[in-house]
Amino acid sequence: MDRRNLLKNSFALGGLTGLGAGAGQTATAQAARVPLIDRPPVLAPIRAHVDRIYDIKSCIRPFRTKGPNLGVEQIGDATVVHNYGHAGDGWTLSWGSADMQVQKAMSFGPKKVAVIGCGIIGLTSALTAQRAGAEVTIYTREMLQRTRSMRANGVWGPGIAALASEAPANLADICEQMCRISLKTYRFYTGLSGNPIAWCDHYDLSDTPFDAPPPPRAPLPSGEPAPVFFRMPEGRLADLTPKPEILAPNVNPFPAKYAARTSKMYFNFSEYGHLLVSDFFAAGGKVVMRDFHSPGELAHLPEKIIINCPGYAAHDWWRDKAMIPVRGQTEWLIPQPEVNYGVTYRNVQARSKSDGIMVIAVGDAQHAKSWNNSNERPDRAEAEGAVRVMEELFSRFTGVPA
Ligand SMILES: Cc1cc2nc3c(=O)[nH]c(=O)nc-3n(C[C@H](O)[C@H](O)[C@H](O)COP(=O)(O)OP(=O)(O)OC[C@H]3O[C@@H](n4cnc5c(N)ncnc54)[C@H](O)[C@@H]3O)c2cc1C
Repeated sequence: MDRRNLLKNSFALGGLTGLGAGAGQTATAQAARVPLIDRPPVLAPIRAHVDRIYDIKSCIRPFRTKGPNLGVEQIGDATVVHNYGHAGDGWTLSWGSADMQVQKAMSFGPKKVAVIGCGIIGLTSALTAQRAGAEVTIYTREMLQRTRSMRANGVWGPGIAALASEAPANLADICEQMCRISLKTYRFYTGLSGNPIAWCDHYDLSDTPFDAPPPPRAPLPSGEPAPVFFRMPEGRLADLTPKPEILAPNVNPFPAKYAARTSKMYFNFSEYGHLLVSDFFAAGGKVVMRDFHSPGELAHLPEKIIINCPGYAAHDWWRDKAMIPVRGQTEWLIPQPEVNYGVTYRNVQARSKSDGIMVIAVGDAQHAKSWNNSNERPDRAEAEGAVRVMEELFSRFTGVPA
């Protein structure tokens, strides 16, 4: 990982997120802040071998050039409050976005609310509406476990995605509000049995100094220049993530010359998803399995206030041409409960979760391949390539500083 990636607040496409501000200090200055007792503990190696891949998940990030659709529109006598287009930040923004949109929905004073979609955005919207006093029915063609949401990386990475040229003037305010509310809400799910949401150390490793000049940005495969994304103003979200510490060579347990450590919050999809769905039913929620084909069908629902959370499907269903598919893929190695950290090296990230070691290719070149790419077929060669980077790293890993 180069310095640009280390310093980035958010690449805003999920699984490509950086570390946040503050890593710019010199290694010496940062190392002085690492007291002896805060040396990395003994770390179990990741058993990264291609025959241990037990799942490959590929899907589309719901990128919207103008940022998430948070508008309200009328379809017949139904009021539709949109909540989709969170790109690579849906898990991160979910509760804050739900809070914002449920307030709009509840301002009409409904007793009953319909939610379209049961991905992470739909489910958190439904729970938030229940907590605001509404009787909620989710209409969806898939339950959470089968949605695109479950094919993410699943790490907290404050940020929001849009094209710089199309971002609304208040996008930074929206992002900040969503992130702060989400983080507060994640507190309620941290420390529970089964670890629905957990924190772990994350190590960024590099063969070159973090302050080396960044390489030029990779062009798109079409030869066009890479898109220019909206960036949050420097420092705006800085207090929401811990700053990375550069590890001095005498405390760096990895076989890479440069290492930085931070802490990351992540989502264990199985436990967290199960908990959210159970909470929804426990509060009297209903689910109707249904596939909508045109917006006009919403006017026939019994509920007249509808929160619309279809994710990328809004591209076809709502004919929202601001939606751009951004492909992503994660590969899953057999779980290793003894591994309790994550690592990024040579544009591959790995993180130990309760249901496996998640591995994902990140970085500019990967991003260029993903942009405007709607191919959701798992790519075995990509998966093996990413796992082999980790295999090579851990083949040299002794667990003690060189
Ligand atoms: C590889 C990858 C890594 C990612 N990593 C992260 C990360 O680390 N952190 C982060 O915060 N985010 C991450 N994301 C982004 C995150 O996964 C998405 O932003 C989020 O899942 C979007 O959720 P959603 O509920 O809007 O959409 P979806 O999960 O797609 O859910 C849409 C729902 O709507 C229903 N639906 C759609 N159309 C219809 C219809 N016509 N009729 C009935 N039902 C319909 C579907 O059945 C589904 O239930 C990542 C994404 C990818 C692909």
